[in-house]
Amino acid sequence: MIYQRSSALFAEAEKYIPGGVNSPVRAFKSVGGTPVFIEKAKGAYLYDADGNRLIDYIASWGPMILGHAHEPVIRAVTEKAEKGTSFGMPTETETEIARLAVSMVPGIDKIRFVNSGTEACMSAVRLARGYTGRDKIIKFAGCYHGHSDAFLIQAGSGAVTFGSPDSPGVTRGTAQDTLLTDYNDPESVKKLFEANSDEIAAIIIEPVAGNMGCILPDEGFLQGLRSLCDTHGALLIFDEVMTGFRLARGGAQECFGIKADIVTFGKVIGGGLPVGAFAARNEIMNHLAPLGPVYQAGTLSGNPLAMSAGLAMLSELNDNPGIFESLEEKTLYLHKGIARLLNKHSVPHRINRLGSMISVHFTDCDVRDFKSSATGNNNSFKKFFHGMLDEGIHLPPSAFESWFLNDALSYEDLDFTLNAVDKVATTL
Ligand SMILES: *Cc1c(COP(=O)(O)O)cnc(C)c1O
Repeated sequence: MIYQRSSALFAEAEKYIPGGVNSPVRAFKSVGGTPVFIEKAKGAYLYDADGNRLIDYIASWGPMILGHAHEPVIRAVTEKAEKGTSFGMPTETETEIARLAVSMVPGIDKIRFVNSGTEACMSAVRLARGYTGRDKIIKFAGCYHGHSDAFLIQAGSGAVTFGSPDSPGVTRGTAQDTLLTDYNDPESVKKLFEANSDEIAAIIIEPVAGNMGCILPDEGFLQGLRSLCDTHGALLIFDEVMTGFRLARGGAQECFGIKADIVTFGKVIGGGLPVGAFAARNEIMNHLAPLGPVYQAGTLSGNPLAMSAGLAMLSELNDNPGIFESLEEKTLYLHKGIARLLNKHSVPHRINRLGSMISVHFTDCDVRDFKSSATGNNNSFKKFFHGMLDEGIHLPPSAFESWFLNDALSYEDLDFTLNAVDKVATTL
């Protein structure tokens, strides 16, 4: 494939935007080469600036669960735009999406909308601290909760890819209140509680990690965290920015039958517009301004275009729960196909999957935490990534990212993808 115009556009972008991108992982630094510039997208396909058609496994990092330019979402946004794009005053659409989200997600009474997953997680932690009157949080290495200071401590994907797990600019004071431990290691969490008994406000976790590849919680791990929080009076925060409305109507809480105290959302909930949200039962949410003392605000929060896109998206998922099964079947088909082909070509690998999230790791170790995820052979991944791109398939440009399937993908698209894997695997 030819990427002449993309390369030229990237060179021009680099003059005015740091690294040419507005979010680091887009820059292809960990796979080499220059990024593909997108002109438009429809269904399962991206169309780039050189006129190439690419099958998309990024789905805008999650939101496009129904495929790109999904009709009901586009209609909702264009109809809304005619009526004005922002008022800074309440609208009925905000209540409509809030009511729907509360009905879909277990254990929440109220939800507050913000503009990104970062804001959602940052605000959830402030709320947990305000509610418990404690300062410290527990975070797991390799989990990503957005780029606010408290979370930029071994933060997965972007941060890991660039070898700067601790970003300059994060103060030591902030870092001190974030206690770090390993995913799927309940003993270490227990020890942290023992050593900091009355100081821990919350555990924040991706219930299925998606920012160090796709990593599933071991049997009983999340339940163990739930019990520890209950014993020690801390809150359990599920960061469902990736998993919310993707793994099931009620997200990971529904999949695993475990209730968190605060849940954060982003990605799917905005239908492709900038939206995040955090939610909890009344007792906790009523601590938030203007009802309570914990401050949180946003000029564009609950923006009418964003809310109408999110409402259209959630309505589709709520009315058609078969989408989740259809996605799961497609992802399983891809999983089995890739495993068969990599075995055929004797390429060492591990594949992790749940629902429509999947990751392929070029390693001999089971991938169940950040350390094992880092054993993947990045040279193999680079070759695999570029080989697939040449065949017209756009995978996430980092070995630490989960792939996201969208329901517009056909079995023909999946077979096309597997055909490409068969070719590319010979080069690994
Ligand atoms: C993407 C992501 C975030 C951050 O969301 P942004 O909208 O990029 O700020 C937070 N947590 C998880 C689990 C994510 O995947």
